[in-house]
Amino acid sequence: MNYQEIIDRIEQEVQQETHRGKAANYIPALALQDLGKFGMAVHTIDGQDFVVGRAEESFSIQSIAKVFTLSMAMQQFDELVWKRVGKEPSGTRFNSLVQLEYESGIPRNPFMNAGALVITDMILKNSENLKNDLLSFVRGLSDNQYIAYNEEVARSEKETGYRNVALANFIKSFGNLNNKPEDVLDVYFHQCSLQMSCLDLSRAFIYLANRGFSTFCHKQVLNPRQTKRLNSILLTSGLYDAVGDFAYRVGLPGKSGVGGGIVAIIPGQLAVSAWSPGLNESGNSVLALKALELFTTYTGISVF
Ligand code: GLU
Repeated sequence: MNYQEIIDRIEQEVQQETHRGKAANYIPALALQDLGKFGMAVHTIDGQDFVVGRAEESFSIQSIAKVFTLSMAMQQFDELVWKRVGKEPSGTRFNSLVQLEYESGIPRNPFMNAGALVITDMILKNSENLKNDLLSFVRGLSDNQYIAYNEEVARSEKETGYRNVALANFIKSFGNLNNKPEDVLDVYFHQCSLQMSCLDLSRAFIYLANRGFSTFCHKQVLNPRQTKRLNSILLTSGLYDAVGDFAYRVGLPGKSGVGGGIVAIIPGQLAVSAWSPGLNESGNSVLALKALELFTTYTGISVF
C-alpha cells in the first residue's frame, strides 16, 4: 500500500475545506491556534513512517493522554480498574457531571474527564512523582526525550478548569478519589498539556495495533487481552459523544483531544494520527476527522 501517496492526496483534499470549526476557546492557551495547520502521520508495525504537512510539529494532546494513563493503570491494576470506572459509552459531553450524581461517583468510562480523574487517582498511589513517571512512559513509547508538558497550557487549564475541579470534588464526595482533589487535578492538567506531534503519537500508539507489544520501542506495554479491551473501549468511548459518527465514518478505535489531534489504530497494521486545531461542536477536529475518514476510504482498510 502506498501510504505516502494516500496521505499526500488527503492533505490536498482537506486543505480545500473552508469549514474548519473553532479552536477550543474554553482553554485560553489553546484559543489562538492557527486553523490553517494540518498534519498527519502513519506508523506501521514493521517500522515505517509516513508524514505529511505539520506531522512533526508538537501540539497539546489533551484527552489523548487518557490512553496513556489508562495503560499505566491497566499495567498496575489490571481488572481492578473496572471496580472504580465503568466501560460504557456515556452519550454525554466529555466534561459532564450529570451521570455521576445518579451513578454514585463511578464515571461511565475512562475517556471522559471524570473517568480520567479516577484513573489518575489510581496511579498516583504507586508513584512518588507521577508527572515524571508519566513523562518517562510517554517519552519511552515515542523514543523522544523532547516530549514535555506545556506549563502555560497546564496553568491556563488550572485557572479556568472549573468543571474539572467540580468533577474531582464531586467524585471525592462519593469516596471514589483517594488522594486530594488538587493533587489529582495537578497531574490531570499536566497530562492534558503534553505536547506531542502526529509522528510521536503514531509511534507511541503502535502497541495498540500489535497486541500490546511496541515494535517501535521494543516493549510489551500491555498484554494481548488488555490491548483488546483497551481498543474496544476506544471504539465505544474514544470520541466523546460523537463516537457513533466516528465509528460510522472511520470504522476504527481512536481517541481525540480538544487540541485538535485524533489517533486511530488498525490492528495488525498501523497507527495513524491527524491534527488540525479547528473543532466541531462535539470537540473533535474537523479536518482530522475528515482525514481519517478519507484514510480508511482510500486504503479500504478498517476493523470492519
Ligand atoms: N483538558 C481538557 C479538559 O479537561 C481535556 C478535554 C479533552 O481533550 O477532551 O477539559
